[in-house]
Amino acid sequence: MFRVGLGFDNHRLANGRPLWIGGLEIPAPVGELAHSDGDVLLHALTDALLGAVAAGDIGEHFPDSDPRWKDQPSALFLRHAATLVREKGFLLVNVDATILLEKVKLSPYKRVIAEKVRELLRDTWDLDPGAISIKAKTMEGCDAVGAGEAIVAQVVVLLEKSQASNNL
Ligand code: MG
Repeated sequence: MFRVGLGFDNHRLANGRPLWIGGLEIPAPVGELAHSDGDVLLHALTDALLGAVAAGDIGEHFPDSDPRWKDQPSALFLRHAATLVREKGFLLVNVDATILLEKVKLSPYKRVIAEKVRELLRDTWDLDPGAISIKAKTMEGCDAVGAGEAIVAQVVVLLEKSQASNNL
């Protein structure tokens, strides 16, 4: 049995904040304004995993009104979702992500981000490097992303229910 999950996240950008993408801090003059570390990619991936098993969304599991989650690394949210998905008997087949960001060029970091995401998931699933895709685009000057005021991540995941060996 297969399941697809779709995740989306966006954050405002502000001067002097760290820019977290996929558990990596990317050198940049701006970063996400957020209650947690604002890592859009990990938030969208967390939502995609939760969505694939109809287990709600990141806001339900980690409400931003709860001071326990203030400035927490988003890897914690991802691990929670991955564990929940695994406990339901699913393995992760692949991750495909697009990051929309205008002024900071991500091309030098895409592979490093993919490897970091693979490492963050390794406690749960031992994925092949070819199973994680990180793509980056600009918005060509359109909307808040195009104005350099925001960052967006979109993620699709495929899950399979089986006893296959990458389900640790
Ligand atoms: Mg978020």
